[in-house]
Amino acid sequence: MLHIGCHLSSSDGFEAMGQTALAIGANTFQFFTRNPRGSKAKAIDPQDAAALCALLKKHHFAPIIAHAPYTLNPASADPKTREFALLTMQDDLQRMEYVPGNLYNFHPGSHVGQGVEVGTQFIIDLLNEILTASQTTMVLLETMSGKGSEIGRSFDELKRILDGVKRSEKMGVCMDTCHVSDAGYDLTRLDDVLNDFDKQVGLPLLKAVHLNDSLNPLGAHKDRHAVIGGGTIGTDTLSAVINHPALKNLPFCLETPNDLDGYAKEIKLLRSLYRG
Ligand code: FE
Ligand code: FE
Ligand code: ZN
Repeated sequence: MLHIGCHLSSSDGFEAMGQTALAIGANTFQFFTRNPRGSKAKAIDPQDAAALCALLKKHHFAPIIAHAPYTLNPASADPKTREFALLTMQDDLQRMEYVPGNLYNFHPGSHVGQGVEVGTQFIIDLLNEILTASQTTMVLLETMSGKGSEIGRSFDELKRILDGVKRSEKMGVCMDTCHVSDAGYDLTRLDDVLNDFDKQVGLPLLKAVHLNDSLNPLGAHKDRHAVIGGGTIGTDTLSAVINHPALKNLPFCLETPNDLDGYAKEIKLLRSLYRG
């Protein structure tokens, strides 16, 4: 069974996202924990969260992905910016416990000139402060395209973060196909890419995939998503991704430029390409 969904708006609440997902043939989805600009989050309605949990269980959803605001920068040179990222992510993780056992994905951050090593240590320090023994949420580092001074542009950079985190059992990785292609990993040689990931990070740590085509060529470091088949990665390679033995049971999440209708069509297409 292919577990696939897309990014959904959380503005109508938790259960509404589950209903929307069902309506477009999805059995997982992603949402922003709050306005991506990082403003204050709406109070959680425990009944709404419980209704979503029941829906996810009833319809055998794969884990869903909460995405941290992409404007946070845990690797910033500015202590205030790092503190804001820490408080926001800590609050998000507390809120995630209303929907226990799911995934929380974030962009590791940009070192903005101070160097990868300094930035990496800031990310590690933040994670060591916010992760708790009792949390049921798994926190995922997203693979990045390497735009500007983004950290996480290589599997080695992710490994260095993971190596510093004490509660490593709470950590995993989300692979974004647009980002890894933009970072220079050739997905037409998927076995090589996954072998490299396995050597550096370990395939068991891979917990989710963002399934996107890319507007830009291999190694462009741009991060512009394209619809499936509308970019430089192409439908055949993305079909190989969902069917790869090491990936086929993971949740796949579309972040392609689409409305709900477009997402429903892509989900249908990908289900038709899945060999189980
Ligand atoms: Fe992302
Ligand atoms: Fe992504
Ligand atoms: Zn992206």
